[in-house]
Amino acid sequence: MSLDGAYNPDNIFAKILRGEIPSARVYEDHAVLAFMDVFPQSRGHTLVVLKEHPARNLLDVEPQPLQHLILGVQRVAKAVRAALRPDGLVIKQFNGAPAGQTVFHLHFHIIPVWEGAEEGPHASGQMADAAQLAELAKAIAAQIS
Ligand code: 5GP
Repeated sequence: MSLDGAYNPDNIFAKILRGEIPSARVYEDHAVLAFMDVFPQSRGHTLVVLKEHPARNLLDVEPQPLQHLILGVQRVAKAVRAALRPDGLVIKQFNGAPAGQTVFHLHFHIIPVWEGAEEGPHASGQMADAAQLAELAKAIAAQIS
């Protein structure tokens, strides 16, 4: 999907938000939901999405929900850091399929980085073990402040 087009309410994150497919949930407030990426690019790869606003990408979203979203990203990133003690954190966000976006519901990636370790492939590779993701989600959730 290019930058133009309509929001599709049947995208995978909309289904996760509606509870139609499972996810390892980390954090939720009135505006955002954070959950573990099932194709993690590193241990602890977490996604943060807006709950109510049908925005496909960063260009679609209104200022106020965007503020809630980025504040949610910061809150979860701090918890990821506290739980996993990475050496760094990549925060990234793709807009449009040509830019690498594969799920067309606005979201940010939080990807912990350890020195010397290579980032895994984006949105592909080995699907993570659900029990391990649940453990990570619990450890990160315990550090939310
Ligand atoms: P994008 O490519 O749109 O920036 O990122 C979409 C992300 O969603 C990818 O990192 C991909 O691994 C992840 N993903 C795809 N399908 C699922 C799913 O069913 N559950 C979860 N938790 N993550 C998913």
